[in-house]
Amino acid sequence: MTKKELARRLIQLLEEAYPDAICSLNYAKPYELLFATRLAAQCTDARVNLVTPILFSRYPTLEAIAGADISELSDIIHSCGFFNSKARDIIACANKLICDFGGEVPSGMDDLLSLPGVGRKTANLIRGDVFGLPSVVVDTHCMRITRRMGLTDELTPEKIEANLWDILPHDKAGDFCHRLVLHGRDVCAARAPKCGECICTDICKKRLSE
Ligand code: SF4
Repeated sequence: MTKKELARRLIQLLEEAYPDAICSLNYAKPYELLFATRLAAQCTDARVNLVTPILFSRYPTLEAIAGADISELSDIIHSCGFFNSKARDIIACANKLICDFGGEVPSGMDDLLSLPGVGRKTANLIRGDVFGLPSVVVDTHCMRITRRMGLTDELTPEKIEANLWDILPHDKAGDFCHRLVLHGRDVCAARAPKCGECICTDICKKRLSE
């Protein structure tokens, strides 16, 4: 089976197992997803979803976030960890969105990457979920599962993204990545993957090599 064929079979299996491929971070506005994703670094999405309603209630506009007191904002996001750097990035990002992008979240990769605290994972998530553009979001679940499955042998997110971009149908890539998160949480955990219960056992490189 070629890697493209393997990818298509895995997409099919994941679509059957997880019909709803939605972002696990809650948001109402594009910039809220941007900031929620920043908060999710080294933190669970569930924790972020508890914090963001408080954050966006206290600062209901981009202008309010841009003008926030960093100590106060840090206190609100404290439980997400790395609160000082996250607060600094969120405030700086809000200011840059207002100053350079008219208060709108841009869709261009280079524009997104110019924002404080935004890397390729976040930029791809925004492009896919907010703008409906083809995107490959390489998070820890994507890295782990695609390597185990044999879709890539690369180690860095950038190279894995490039590999997946070459083999995934682009119109399916965004939802595929969302489903990998669900599969990683439910079955293909970092420690002790439940291979005996997995829908992918017949095509998984790791499983077949054991
Ligand atoms: S068979 Fe095991 S390693 Fe392979 S995808 Fe399933 S849980 Fe992960």
